[in-house]
Amino acid sequence: MGKVGLLVDFTECIGCQACVKACKEQNNLPRPSYTDYSDLTAENYTVVLEKAGTNFRKLCMHCHEAACVSACPVGALQKTPEGAVTYDAGVCIGCRYCMIACPFQVPKFEWDNPFPAVRKCIYCYDIVKEGEQTACARACPTGATMFGERDRLLQVAKRRLAAQPDRYVDYIYGEKEVGGTSTLFLSGVPFDKLGFRMDLGEKSLPELTWVVLNKVPNIVITGYLLLGGIWWIVDRRKRMEAERLAEEEEHEESA
Ligand code: SF4
Ligand code: SF4
Ligand code: SF4
Repeated sequence: MGKVGLLVDFTECIGCQACVKACKEQNNLPRPSYTDYSDLTAENYTVVLEKAGTNFRKLCMHCHEAACVSACPVGALQKTPEGAVTYDAGVCIGCRYCMIACPFQVPKFEWDNPFPAVRKCIYCYDIVKEGEQTACARACPTGATMFGERDRLLQVAKRRLAAQPDRYVDYIYGEKEVGGTSTLFLSGVPFDKLGFRMDLGEKSLPELTWVVLNKVPNIVITGYLLLGGIWWIVDRRKRMEAERLAEEEEHEESA
């Protein structure tokens, strides 16, 4: 399998929220209300919003050279050969460098969870690596969200722009941003009017990430690492305690 991606054509989106619902089901996320949100959160890996007369989606861009992956000191975030950027909560030390590094403000932290993790879309990696499409693309009734090989999706997007120049702004968001992303967007409304950053440039950010981090005073980094280390130790203790209690309960039940 080559590198996969998503093409979301905002002009085809009817705002039905089927992609959001499918995402929550696929990732076992709480669903208090499909319409009670205004941005990505630890429970919303994707949102569908309405602005300037168009519906549009937000989700992880799955950058080719992801700043979050580069910033993570323990390899909890990984760029897979298929293009998805995945996350391993078992490795994460909770330092939250990824949140600082991401130019799209995607990773979110479970502030109110006693065992917090970083949360973001992982392109339904478990099913995608088995050859299936993402849950959001499967659920979309209009084809506004399309899953496929990233190169092919880029060709589709270019063909649409050429065939219907009056329908679209002449721009494929994600084609070149920060060195290219696996998620691509087409829109009939200028992207900056929808809140998308247009100032990111075409260079990948990992190098930049370390330039920025290197400029952070050592004392801050030390503090962060120390806090991260303490968090990891406390979290590990809590997990061990929870496992011990569960084992005890099991023994009591079987006795
Ligand atoms: S959008 Fe942010 S979280 Fe997603 S891959 Fe890029 S840097 Fe990482
Ligand atoms: S919080 Fe720190 S350890 Fe966890 S994924 Fe983000 S950068 Fe990596
Ligand atoms: S399922 Fe498709 S049409 Fe419905 S909100 Fe999501 S992208 Fe738009």
